[in-house]
Amino acid sequence: AKKIGVLTSGGDAPGMNAGIRAVVRCAIAKGMEVVGVHHGYNGLINGDIEQMDVRSVSEILHRGGTMLYTARCLEFKEQAGILKGKETCEKMGIDGLVVIGGDGSFRGARDLSLAGIPTVGIPGTIDNDISCSDFSIGFDTALNTAVEAVDRLRDTSQSHDRCSVVEIMGHGAGHLTLDTGIACGACAIWVNEVDFDVDRDIIQKIKSTASNGKHHFIVAVGEGITDVHALAKEIETKTGVETRATVLGHIQRGGTPTARDRVLATKLGVHAVELLEKGIGNRVVVIKGNTVVDYDILEALQMKKGIDKKLFEDAKLINI
Ligand code: ADP
Repeated sequence: AKKIGVLTSGGDAPGMNAGIRAVVRCAIAKGMEVVGVHHGYNGLINGDIEQMDVRSVSEILHRGGTMLYTARCLEFKEQAGILKGKETCEKMGIDGLVVIGGDGSFRGARDLSLAGIPTVGIPGTIDNDISCSDFSIGFDTALNTAVEAVDRLRDTSQSHDRCSVVEIMGHGAGHLTLDTGIACGACAIWVNEVDFDVDRDIIQKIKSTASNGKHHFIVAVGEGITDVHALAKEIETKTGVETRATVLGHIQRGGTPTARDRVLATKLGVHAVELLEKGIGNRVVVIKGNTVVDYDILEALQMKKGIDKKLFEDAKLINI
């Protein structure tokens, strides 16, 4: 490719900026021209596009969010939207594109590749729910943010002999909740992927734990599973332990990216540019073990990744 574009799409995640920076700097080093597309696929449709140079991405490496803005673009799910995006690329001479986002964004990347614009996806989401990749950009930062927040809740729960129910993000996937629960010693971890019974796994657990001398409890619950405020009331009624619920919410999306997320974003961004340099599109660039690899997008979308069930079971033995 001679001129490539970069955009961020879907939910934002800390570390996306590090990915944008890597793409821009690497492409320029290889003699390519680079443009930044604003607001996800919307920018491709509307021509909301800025020329990038090496200094355009200064001072963003350590910033959360995305300097290119992100969006969900319904129009891009239709063939007419894809064609408009393709026309914009042709008009501007863009012959390669990097898309940082989740599975939905990869579908758009595939459609655009099939339409003739080689497009490469990079996983960016705090949920870590991209099956083909061990980790996605933003997960490590969100995990550390959630852990710090729950540590604070623990201090106050401990001082008052309370139970703290915490709702953690994940978009239906339990990775963030499980790892936060492990790191914070939650006495119960409730995620979609496992068989869970409130009476058996929370009420009885709190009672047995209380009987051996513990008086404060953390219950970690993935978002979208239950009403955590109602759950807190139920726990209080059935165990007699004063219980409060906290929804961590969008706090988990922001903040300065961890070193791990910055390094991951840099590795993936460079690899994406290396593919486009060779004119290769319709790929997602991911991390497997400690190695950067790429997959055909359709193949990648069909992969499955569960949570670590052994870790979940081990937590029950240890967090008592
Ligand atoms: P994520 O990328 O985080 O999974 P979404 O599922 O919201 O987030 O997808 C982000 C954007 O990707 C959508 O708003 C749309 O522009 C594009 N997209 C999603 N699904 C498709 C699809 N089937 N075909 C083309 N584009 C899609």
